[in-house]
Amino acid sequence: MAKINENYLKLPQNYLFTEISRRVKIFQNENPAAEIIRLGIGDVTQPLPKVCIDAMTAAVAEMGNAETFRGYGPEQGYLFLREKIAEWNYQKRGLNVNADEIFISDGSKCDCGNIQEIFSLDSKFAVADPVYPVYLDTNVMAGRTGNLNSDGRFSGVVYLPCTAENNFNPAPPDEKVDLIYLCSPNNPTGTTLDKAALANWVDYAQKNDAVILYDAAYAAYITEKKIPRSIYEIDGAREVAIEFRSFSKTAGFTGTRCGYVVIPENLYGKTSTGEKVPLKNLWLRRQSTKFNGTAYIIQRGAAAIYSDEGQAQIKNLIEYYMTNAQIIRAGLTAAGFTVYGGINAPYIWLKTPKNLSSWNFFDELLTKYNIVGTPGAGFGPCGEGFLRLTAFGSRENTLAAMQRLTK
Ligand SMILES: *Cc1c(COP(=O)(O)O)cnc(C)c1O
Repeated sequence: MAKINENYLKLPQNYLFTEISRRVKIFQNENPAAEIIRLGIGDVTQPLPKVCIDAMTAAVAEMGNAETFRGYGPEQGYLFLREKIAEWNYQKRGLNVNADEIFISDGSKCDCGNIQEIFSLDSKFAVADPVYPVYLDTNVMAGRTGNLNSDGRFSGVVYLPCTAENNFNPAPPDEKVDLIYLCSPNNPTGTTLDKAALANWVDYAQKNDAVILYDAAYAAYITEKKIPRSIYEIDGAREVAIEFRSFSKTAGFTGTRCGYVVIPENLYGKTSTGEKVPLKNLWLRRQSTKFNGTAYIIQRGAAAIYSDEGQAQIKNLIEYYMTNAQIIRAGLTAAGFTVYGGINAPYIWLKTPKNLSSWNFFDELLTKYNIVGTPGAGFGPCGEGFLRLTAFGSRENTLAAMQRLTK
């Protein structure tokens, strides 16, 4: 038998969402009449914007004609899409990012997971806690950690606690790390890093020769003007930060698949002998070796959001979910819960009552109110004692869930 990568065995066996569906299934079997409302998973429910459908339909027609047919596209993504992203998401906001610094992908999960490959295996990394599990798990798989300890933490990892006490703005560690994973707006807490906190991180990265891996998948959900949508709003960030973005939550592309990474030209890593190497070159090499591009049709669909009409349509979509978020925040507050998030993100992070554990509160919500949330402990040790609800459900289900809780 071939030897396996044993790092995979360090990961906990039960994937969070598998355990949730197991518990929901058991409850539904025992209570077939219960009408369960799912506010657990982080998937969107509303259809794609019309501009995207029209652009993809036109692209399908092009593929059916020998004159306009396209085969393999550029590994970095089509220039028409990269130029639109640079213009609409960065240059129009006064930020210096150009099309050559953008790499199109089939979604941000793989980018967030793959980026670690271009860094040395002995890099020390820090990760927000709680957060989207992809950053930590992919580093475990790669062998950058020790084993999982009984406190729920892997040895060799620097955890950055995001708590109500620090306003979910973790401070840089006292020790030196090489890589820092931050997510703002954060999944699962729905909270954001403010300008001062982010500037503090950029300063830390400059002083410690570290790289910030900044996941801004929910940037389009930011409603407060003072909250940065891009890390490049911070002076000096171009020398220390990679930014990840996705069309999944912005334009409903979770099943359509398109995302991108920004790696500035002047962001460098170094060899063991101290030579500077542009990180952008390594990523291009990695992508052109292991990835053959996102479908032309999908890239046309994504590019369609960059017009006045497209922006108006995604604004509507986001407002639909953010109205759900307001309904959830108001409902939970009226029911006496302590809630965070939901103002600049489609996630509401609520403190469990009576100091219940995340999973015990999950069970109580399921059995008493027939509502499915996501236990906070599944996102990191500091998520214990919290539960995540999402605003991605339908209006009807969101209202019904809050009625059940406030009654
Ligand atoms: C949904 C999500 C993504 C994007 O995933 P895709 O692969 O683009 O669908 C990235 N980061 C976070 C934190 C997310 O919640």
